[in-house]
Amino acid sequence: MLRQYELVDRVLGYDPKADEALINRAYVYAMKQHGSQKRASGDPYFSHPIEVAGILTDLKLDTATIVTALLHDTIEDTGSTMDELTKLFGPQVAGLVDGVTKLTRIELTSERSKQAENFRKFLLAMSNDIRVLLVKLADRLHNMRTLHFISSAEKRQRIALETMEIYAPLAGRMGIQEIREELEDLAFKELNPEAREALIKRLNEFRESTGDAVKKIADEIRAKLEEAGLPCEVIGREKRPYSMWRKMERRAISLEQLSDIFGFRVIVDDVPDCYRAIGVLHTSWPMVPGRFKDYISTPKANGYRSLHTTMIGPQRKRAEVQVRTRKMHEVAEYGIAAHWLYKEASGTDASGEFAATFKWLRQLIEMLEHGASPEEFLEHTKLQMYSDQVFCFTPNGLLITLPRGATPIDFAYAVHTEIGDTCVGCKINGRHMPLRSKLENGDEVEIIRSQAQKPSPAWEAIVATGKARSAIRRSIRATKQAEFSKLGRQIVKTAFEAAGREATDTILERALGPLRKHDINELLAGVGDGTINPQQILQTVYPEDGAPKGGRKRNGRMNGKDERGGSVRVTGRASGLAIRFAPEMFPLPGERIVGIMMPGEGVTIYPIDAPALEEFDGDAMRWIDATWDIDPEHPQSFPTRLRVTAKNEVGSLGHIATLIADYGSNIANLSLAQRDTDFYDIQLDLEVRDLKHLTRIMSALNGLSCVNTVVRPRR
Ligand code: MN
Repeated sequence: MLRQYELVDRVLGYDPKADEALINRAYVYAMKQHGSQKRASGDPYFSHPIEVAGILTDLKLDTATIVTALLHDTIEDTGSTMDELTKLFGPQVAGLVDGVTKLTRIELTSERSKQAENFRKFLLAMSNDIRVLLVKLADRLHNMRTLHFISSAEKRQRIALETMEIYAPLAGRMGIQEIREELEDLAFKELNPEAREALIKRLNEFRESTGDAVKKIADEIRAKLEEAGLPCEVIGREKRPYSMWRKMERRAISLEQLSDIFGFRVIVDDVPDCYRAIGVLHTSWPMVPGRFKDYISTPKANGYRSLHTTMIGPQRKRAEVQVRTRKMHEVAEYGIAAHWLYKEASGTDASGEFAATFKWLRQLIEMLEHGASPEEFLEHTKLQMYSDQVFCFTPNGLLITLPRGATPIDFAYAVHTEIGDTCVGCKINGRHMPLRSKLENGDEVEIIRSQAQKPSPAWEAIVATGKARSAIRRSIRATKQAEFSKLGRQIVKTAFEAAGREATDTILERALGPLRKHDINELLAGVGDGTINPQQILQTVYPEDGAPKGGRKRNGRMNGKDERGGSVRVTGRASGLAIRFAPEMFPLPGERIVGIMMPGEGVTIYPIDAPALEEFDGDAMRWIDATWDIDPEHPQSFPTRLRVTAKNEVGSLGHIATLIADYGSNIANLSLAQRDTDFYDIQLDLEVRDLKHLTRIMSALNGLSCVNTVVRPRR
């Protein structure tokens, strides 16, 4: 806490004519009035008005403002009255304290829904004397600095949100950038700690990789300018996390692409030197086109003046540079307050004149008085509540915002649909991780892609974003259509051949009308997905052939050439979406299989001796010939299941597992199905190449002394 003499010394330091006695009286009075009141931090309450006064000395404000700061909570929180303050400190100070009190009351009654309306009142109330608002901003800044002492999270959030939406932009509009940035960062910390942490973490890594770039660049700029006979001060600094985050969000760019992570300020003696300095900079380093701005000849509405440029500067880094005079610099830092100081020095009474100087304030008040929408203003500055989101980065540093629970697949689709569709794996923070991993704040995600990849139907269950889900569905639908159509062609071709006919497109076209299909692809897809039987097509285009002879018989062989149901070739366990294996039936290459058309789903493949096939006995039209088509040069692995009864003795499980491994097979799953004292049943899920491979394993298992029986369960 600032001591009494320290506060007075600070004010005298920039204003030798300050009313020392008045400041001393106010200091003592505030201490007495607040007495034993305590802040949430446990500090005595009077430390607060004193700190607020201290903040205002940084802005070099006059005695009346400093005194108002010391007294600003006395009417609201102690027994002080306007009359008493007028008597003790004069009408001007009393009026200012009254203004601050009114603002405090608006604030206390503020509800989220009424915010815009309150904002209007707010501006009207403070427009009488800008110093009221300066005290209020300093008050808010100190409250934000001590926000973490407030125990209610809801209250902290409300105060932080209000700061972000009203006070910070207002400080910005008043040109007090230092306070604006500090308010924003304190509010950001409360409202969105994860995003802030993620950014700071990222920034630290970036800083490590670039070394002490700020100092090196600043030194080089200074050297160049001094060489050209321009004495100057060069200030290099890093932007605050919030302003970087907002830019990255708004422009969807990466940290590395931000040209102004590092900002440089070149302060020279006078206006002609500003332009000379720009000339030197532009001849020393290439400028980035379109980034030069002259706010000296056309100042900003809040009185800001400077020359801006961006160059590919020293160290080959983009550097944003602002060139200005000392006076311009103070206006830029202290805004309206600095302006006030210069006015004061010229001896005119400034308080009323400020509102006039700052045209934007008048315009804003007019806008509000004429009922224009203040929501618009709020809209520009609002920080959304992002507590349910995670912030991740691409390897290039692009920020990707995702809902909590999102996976690398969501990430891939958020970057680009094409990247999602071809995603096969990922690295999170440089490590290979499963695609179902949940992403966390600050993760750097690299998507591994393959053009051969198509989205898997299983992805739908693990993604968190609608964008990913609908893209996956769209892609699966398209893949399915293509596969159904391809399968349909196979079936139609064989069915026609069996009938002694040829399925040319010209002939198939004749079936389009009667079967109500738009094109051949659609017709074939209908056959592939089991909604159209190839016999229907045959009978439509060759009615003279009549109905097919007989039906097929179960047990039975498919009767070769007499059959006209068509046939399919099964090329592997990953035959795609149109051809699937019946669940837990485990057909293997080398054994006879049969297909059953499942309307809307394509073909399901069963081993020919599966008991479950009885269900389809009466439905001959759905049966379809199926043959394996496996390239012997490229054996694939197929799942299968064995039930082994083994002796319950030490090591028997180990013997079984070793044998299976010796035969080049993989155990995918193993469970003890049943166990009694002498024997136990083991269910083994294996990967094998074909029926022959399985048979060899089975007879080898039978040869083990610990194994009693080995069977392949049938369903
Ligand atoms: Mn206060």
